Amino acid sequence: MKRVYNFSAGPSMLPEEVLRRAADEMMDYKGCGQSVMEMSHRSKIFQSIIDSAESLLREVMNIPDNYKVLFLQGGGSTQFAMIPFNLMTGSGKADYVLTGQWATKAYKEAARYGDAKAIASSKDKTFTYIPKLDPSTFTPDADYFYICMNNTIYGTKYHTLPATGSVPLVADISSCICSEPIDISKFGLVFAGAQKNLAPAGLTIVIVREDLVGHAMEKTPTMLNYKTHVDGGSMFNTPPCYTIYICELVLEWIKNTIGGLENMKALNEKKAKLLYDFLDSSKLFHGTVVPEDRSLMNVPFVTGSDDLNAKFVAQATDAGMVNLKGHRTVGGMRASIYNAMPYEGVETLVDFMKKFEKANG
Ligand SMILES: *Cc1c(COP(=O)(O)O)cnc(C)c1O
Repeated sequence: MKRVYNFSAGPSMLPEEVLRRAADEMMDYKGCGQSVMEMSHRSKIFQSIIDSAESLLREVMNIPDNYKVLFLQGGGSTQFAMIPFNLMTGSGKADYVLTGQWATKAYKEAARYGDAKAIASSKDKTFTYIPKLDPSTFTPDADYFYICMNNTIYGTKYHTLPATGSVPLVADISSCICSEPIDISKFGLVFAGAQKNLAPAGLTIVIVREDLVGHAMEKTPTMLNYKTHVDGGSMFNTPPCYTIYICELVLEWIKNTIGGLENMKALNEKKAKLLYDFLDSSKLFHGTVVPEDRSLMNVPFVTGSDDLNAKFVAQATDAGMVNLKGHRTVGGMRASIYNAMPYEGVETLVDFMKKFEKANG
């Protein structure tokens, strides 16, 4: 068996330990004679899986009791509509910071349902930085204030949160969930598609403060109302059972093998530092993001020549490092180094970059 280092932005690598355990339990989950893929979501045994996934997430992320945890479908993208349907129902206003494609999509969707305002943007420099925010420009009676915390495509991250006062802060944490500790009490709602850091595709996690649930617009489709899923314990309809099971195993790995989010953060910082330090010293490769806003998870870089970029991606693939091609809007390369990417994977990449620079610099 040969496994590659997969630098994909998502779906992405899963911990080998989790894949082995899932393989072991594939034919007969804990003596019940069936796979988790096959069992009824109304069975006791599946209920114990989803309960365990929720309690592990609460423990690992230190989620306060006045927050609901939902396991939904529809990807991060469905949240772009669910958020305004459910939250844009007081003044009907919301502030958005445009830090890339995902934030812009969320903003455009919200503008269909209410008074969404783009209060800042970093589009002028291809989203290579997080804009400095001036609270005097914030809408004081907004129903919420929206950010994309880690910008998967452009490789930027908020290292300090905007001071929104009593306006609930809403964050897309799809590409940074469980990469480091965050203080959930600072947010009204966070959400994440699971396919970056927690599970295969098909699961979206929403963590929402209890008082924000139950005020949806009159015409909100039943499936897009958070209250439906709070009342149904995330089982109003058939949930993505197998993906929730893998999510449970990944959370166990974070808790027991890694030792929690402080350790996860230290490991992620060590991986990112190795790559950024090399980029800062290289004469051929350059990071595209201003140093103070760099992401721990997604690292875009370029050589300055499209031909060399293409040659690098092709040779890296042959050497067992796949999906290093950058997003089409940025060009160059991007290494996504999520939780499950081992330190050795980044070491292998940096060694390869050094050799490539010697041969082509
Ligand atoms: C991947 C991603 C999304 C989109 O998720 P889907 O599950 O494909 O809808 C949204 N936001 C961010 C930050 C992402 O990285």
